[in-house]
Amino acid sequence: GPALLFVKTSQGTEEGRRFYACSACRDRKDCNFFQWEDEKVSEARLAAREEYNRSHQPCFTHRQNVDRYKNFVLLPLSKRRFCQECQQLLLPAEWKKHSDHQFLCDITTAQLKSPSQLLYPLENKKTNAQYLFAERSCQFLLNLLTDLGFRRVLSVGTPRLHEMIQSKASQEEEFNVRSLLLDIDFRYSQFYTEDEFCHYNMFNHHFFGGETARETCRKFLCEENGERVIMVTDPPFGGLVEALASSFKKLMAMWRKTEKEGHDNREMPMFWIFPYFFESRILDFFPSFSMMDYQVDYDNHALYKHGKTGRRQSPVRIFTNLTPSMIVLPEEEGYRFCTVCQRYVSSGNQHCEICNSCTSKDGRRWKHCVLCKKCVKPSWFHCNNCKCCTLEKHSCEKTDSGCFVCGKAGHKRSACPSLSRS
Ligand code: SAH
Ligand code: ZN
Ligand code: ZN
Ligand code: ZN
Ligand code: ZN
Repeated sequence: GPALLFVKTSQGTEEGRRFYACSACRDRKDCNFFQWEDEKVSEARLAAREEYNRSHQPCFTHRQNVDRYKNFVLLPLSKRRFCQECQQLLLPAEWKKHSDHQFLCDITTAQLKSPSQLLYPLENKKTNAQYLFAERSCQFLLNLLTDLGFRRVLSVGTPRLHEMIQSKASQEEEFNVRSLLLDIDFRYSQFYTEDEFCHYNMFNHHFFGGETARETCRKFLCEENGERVIMVTDPPFGGLVEALASSFKKLMAMWRKTEKEGHDNREMPMFWIFPYFFESRILDFFPSFSMMDYQVDYDNHALYKHGKTGRRQSPVRIFTNLTPSMIVLPEEEGYRFCTVCQRYVSSGNQHCEICNSCTSKDGRRWKHCVLCKKCVKPSWFHCNNCKCCTLEKHSCEKTDSGCFVCGKAGHKRSACPSLSRS
């Protein structure tokens, strides 16, 4: 889909030069598309790019994959193979072509219903950054949204939540929640029909399936028979908040337009799952959102998963435009309701009488600094030179060029340790 317009700023110069680059890949190694805004593109280069794009299409269309799936499930267990190298379900006629590839045999219906377990997670940090919910977090999200009365879930980059909903719906008759998955990972088109999955780029709101796919999404957002919709998204954390917000606003606008009577000034309910240190960035774009204390855990994440003994702290939170008091967090995991703040908070999050709020962002108990007039991390001290609270070990003069993500000095956003996941 469309590239994004960036600006290159060099130190000292006010105005940078603008250029187009790939919206989805933040690493030039994954996609080398680069074009100055004012650059004249020769016919030859245009043709070369078109040729490149043509030769990088998936080998099957979504339609073809749906047909292949229908044939696949008719096969006896002994003939159901999945090529691990090509990440593809194989029909017997194709075995030969993949004979020197690693493959899995006897693919069960249960395996077909949990593609996120069958496919390997695309962990490359700068593009897909596929980090899958731990069972507990996924179950929590699903219970939460069904308890809130939602019957339709627009799953944007949340394949595991989608999969949990799909398999529950096929197993339990009284479970009447539906989900539509929007994701850039085309491998999922092997397991879901066009009504269950749209190949979508959340950085530029591009539907690869064109107008038909867009229409599928629009229809899904129509709240027929009073079936209320919520959108749940868990984007790659290295992604530009600005680009994501712009796409999410377009999805919200799509929802708003579906309503005949008009939604007044209501917003489509949304859970945006993202690290807490992006709070101010998200609020810049969605002032109606608030951050919940719930810590979202992941399976294949070295840093953000809970260990066997106790849990490590995950920095990932839920941002939502629903009323915070409605988001009930599990007391058995240590969350409690603060009657003053009217929301559930972590056990370590103490209500500060001076700030008149539960101020901790990371789950640890924060302390109030009278000079800064706010609560700060427990490890911080007030530095009289810098006139603010910071780590005890810091160089006073270097406070201006902080990291865009965490605010700390000494590194740029691209090298921010809070984004590193391995
Ligand atoms: N925790 C979620 C997965 C989140 S990982 C779960 O368990 O369901 C981020 C997801 O966003 C991945 O599924 C990845 O394929 C998808 N993604 C990455 N870049 C994307 C883009 N540009 N557009 C749409 N989806 C994207
Ligand atoms: Zn293969
Ligand atoms: Zn409180
Ligand atoms: Zn305070
Ligand atoms: Zn201070």
